[in-house]
Amino acid sequence: MRIDTAERLDRFRAEVRAFIAEYNPGPKRHTGVRAPEPELVEPIRGFTRALFDAGYLGADWPERYGGRAGHDPREAFVVAEEIARAGTWGPIGAGPPLAAPALITFGTPEQRAHYLPRIRSAEHIWCQLFSEPGAGSDLAGLSTRAVRDGDHWRVSGQKVWTTNGHHADVGYLLARTDPDAPKHAGISAFILDMSTPGVDVRPLREITGTSDFNEVFLDDVHIPAANLIGRLHDGWRVANSSLLHERSGVAAGSVELVRHLDDLLALGPTDPATTGRIATAVLVSDAMSKAVQSHILAGTEDAADAAAVKIFFSETNLALAEAGLALQGPGGLAAEGDPEATADGWWQDAFLYARAYTIAGGATEVLKNVIAERALRMPREPR
Ligand SMILES: Cc1cc2nc3c(=O)[nH]c(=O)nc-3n(C[C@H](O)[C@H](O)[C@H](O)COP(=O)(O)OP(=O)(O)OC[C@H]3O[C@@H](n4cnc5c(N)ncnc54)[C@H](O)[C@@H]3O)c2cc1C
Repeated sequence: MRIDTAERLDRFRAEVRAFIAEYNPGPKRHTGVRAPEPELVEPIRGFTRALFDAGYLGADWPERYGGRAGHDPREAFVVAEEIARAGTWGPIGAGPPLAAPALITFGTPEQRAHYLPRIRSAEHIWCQLFSEPGAGSDLAGLSTRAVRDGDHWRVSGQKVWTTNGHHADVGYLLARTDPDAPKHAGISAFILDMSTPGVDVRPLREITGTSDFNEVFLDDVHIPAANLIGRLHDGWRVANSSLLHERSGVAAGSVELVRHLDDLLALGPTDPATTGRIATAVLVSDAMSKAVQSHILAGTEDAADAAAVKIFFSETNLALAEAGLALQGPGGLAAEGDPEATADGWWQDAFLYARAYTIAGGATEVLKNVIAERALRMPREPR
């Protein structure tokens, strides 16, 4: 019997689209990697649980942790695209994209048994406690210290940019466990219960007026020794391995751009040169995303792929938001809540947020270095 995979995938897409239409937790008011209003957190937990229960998320996990044998890896891209197309909330936090792969690859049997079901049920929302005021692009320069004391670690330091930290139950933490080792070799990864005494989460209010990320202060926080992920001082490898798993953004970003291009065109008469240029960039971004998805599926991905998609997406997104704002003339100054604001200030928020996309998940300049050094084999920048 011949199985038409394209037709099967189309059927899967229709099924996912109908599922999202039925169970989604409501429209996402702002674009970007944002934190929901508190009242949306429970509906988002419910939707996340439903996506896992239906096998739309976590199909690639080992079967004993709820994965599905013989799953089609393209389905994960379809699900990410359909959530983006619907303009609704997907799962929030670092649990499904980062902590789960880290635990599956490096976790102890006890850690997997305890935490993986709670990621699937969304009982636990995780945050990513990597970046610090002095360590972002140069993440290996982090200085939060973990010192062993009997059967636990005592951790002190400061994290920043912690998206959804104020909603998180658990943190995926990197801390320095050997200050004398070369910087990449002295880091370990930990599971942190965010309700532990000494954890102080302070939301930052951003230029958008919303609070999507936080500062997290750690003051002599006790973490059980059993919460070390992977081997001691091997946190750099644990973190990099889990970051490699985070690929759904490759699919979701370009779908968002296509949706917002339609919104831009609906705003009214525009300068054809500008909209033509942006529309072309949106279509190129979508084509790049599809090409990289097929490289990932074929195992032929190279170091430039995800970096180039991310750069092109974030720059196109910025141009799109700028055009949407400019089209409103002086009205572009009216923000959300102002009756004069077009689409209740959606474009203003998108414009103010757009630069964050050029920084989060790897700043444009740093990704250009990745492309130059790792893909084009150009001389390394002096370090
Ligand atoms: C919206 C958002 C959400 C985030 N969420 C999280 C989160 O949940 N958890 C978390 O741990 N982190 C998070 N981050 C942090 C993110 O990973 C860092 O912002 C990013 O790695 C850049 O680090 P930095 O902000 O310290 O900037 P820096 O590294 O200080 O960079 C500042 C500038 O210098 C440039 N630069 C730096 N190094 C080089 C170089 N070698 N060559 C050329 N130019 C260079 C950069 O491109 C940038 O323009 C988030 C960031 C954003 C914007």
